[in-house]
Amino acid sequence: MFETEKKELIEYGIRVFKSGLVQGTGGNLSVRVGENGDMYLITPSGIDYEHVVLDDIVLIDMKGNIVEGKRNPSIEHGMHRAVYEKRRDVNAIIHTHSLYSTALSITKQPLPQIESSVVLMRGQIEVAEYARHGSIELAKNVVEALGDRKAALMANHGLLAADESLAKALKTCISVEHCAHMYILARSVGQVYPISPEKCDELRDYIKTSYGQKK
Ligand SMILES: [Zn+2]
Repeated sequence: MFETEKKELIEYGIRVFKSGLVQGTGGNLSVRVGENGDMYLITPSGIDYEHVVLDDIVLIDMKGNIVEGKRNPSIEHGMHRAVYEKRRDVNAIIHTHSLYSTALSITKQPLPQIESSVVLMRGQIEVAEYARHGSIELAKNVVEALGDRKAALMANHGLLAADESLAKALKTCISVEHCAHMYILARSVGQVYPISPEKCDELRDYIKTSYGQKK
């Protein structure tokens, strides 16, 4: 089932790995599938991204039952499910251990709206409290920190991006990492001045109506 979606998931796993957003088998990806969006495909636990094949991808329903697949799913499958249950607008999730995002998460400081890409993620990127990998507590903390935004930092762990598609979620992962790097550099040379809330609202409205090509 869902061969096209499985292929896409494998392809994006390789992209995440090649982008340097994860090391080894760290991180995981999933995509919502099914007529009612009540299942998701997720990468397997502990298999190198470049070695994952179609049969390694695991199909899980929203109760946590494995519908198809012989491999153990990523240990964070509960975290992915918790986000899908809370956010009907989310169809794809990418979790990475990227360097600057994780470094910032260790200080428990959110990523403020310092640049347009963070503004367009619907607000500053909050930090989910630390909890053990694979725990229900971690899933709850991430859902809370994510709110209705496109990403959340995970304290002492990494980053999660949630979006309409894998392409958009990968873009978000790359943008958060880039902005976390920018923020850490800026903090090292002086005071940081995020964009004011009014200017952020103005930018979001402007982009909604004016950016890009007319269809
Ligand atoms: Zn992780």
